[in-house]
Amino acid sequence: MQHMEFKVKWGMVIDLDKCTGCGACSIACRAENNIPPMQDASNKLRTTDWMNIYELSNGKKFPDLEIAYLPRPCMQCGKPSCSTVCPVVATTKDEEGGIVSQVYPRCIGCRYCMAACPYHARYFNWFDPIWPEGMEKTLTPYVSARPRGVVEKCTFCHHRFNAAKEQARMSGADPLDLPEDAYIPACAEVCPTGAIVFGNLKNPEHRVAKLAASKYAFRLLARLGTDPQVYYYSKRDWVRQLGDNYLQKELKGGEHV
Ligand code: SF4
Repeated sequence: MQHMEFKVKWGMVIDLDKCTGCGACSIACRAENNIPPMQDASNKLRTTDWMNIYELSNGKKFPDLEIAYLPRPCMQCGKPSCSTVCPVVATTKDEEGGIVSQVYPRCIGCRYCMAACPYHARYFNWFDPIWPEGMEKTLTPYVSARPRGVVEKCTFCHHRFNAAKEQARMSGADPLDLPEDAYIPACAEVCPTGAIVFGNLKNPEHRVAKLAASKYAFRLLARLGTDPQVYYYSKRDWVRQLGDNYLQKELKGGEHV
């Protein structure tokens, strides 16, 4: 698929040395994006969790055992395989920021995108959403509830991007040159350890761009060529190797390709 590059590239760096696996990002994501609670969430193949948190271990025994937690949103790929396979153009890459969209009214529920996504970052709605009485009052009005039969995924809280652009327009600023922190997804906002950094990867002044350029930064399954806009960061070798599935001998000159 053609690689898509735009003037603004919203991205995220998640510092795995700071993440404690508390789950605040995942809960904030659910609340912000109107993901309904499930009565029975035991079947993980049928649950929806846009920000999943995985546990990594160095595989050693105590006292050498080390654990890391890896939160996994949609990678907002530069070459999104999900979008390539969609027969009804329900998912495309937004030219104002490179966020991979999902147009629910267009989705026909074929789930090709789910099969194509190497990160398992897409979820099919097997049921209509049901909120316990009173909880419907907590819904975010700018995020549509998804009916049974359509696929959904993390949108980098795209409605917050729209709000930030609107704010910039009203104050006479350029909506495509937002300052750092003018737009930030819910997961990054609530992270108590500051492990999730968000911003424009193409703006060298944004912290996210500096972190992504670090030699300690890596991307999940980078070898597939999906060009994710989500980076991870760890100073621990075993975390980087487990996270990006690279073997040391596959690195070219010590750098990720
Ligand atoms: S992570 Fe999966 S759902 Fe997200 S853009 Fe990439 S292929 Fe599509």
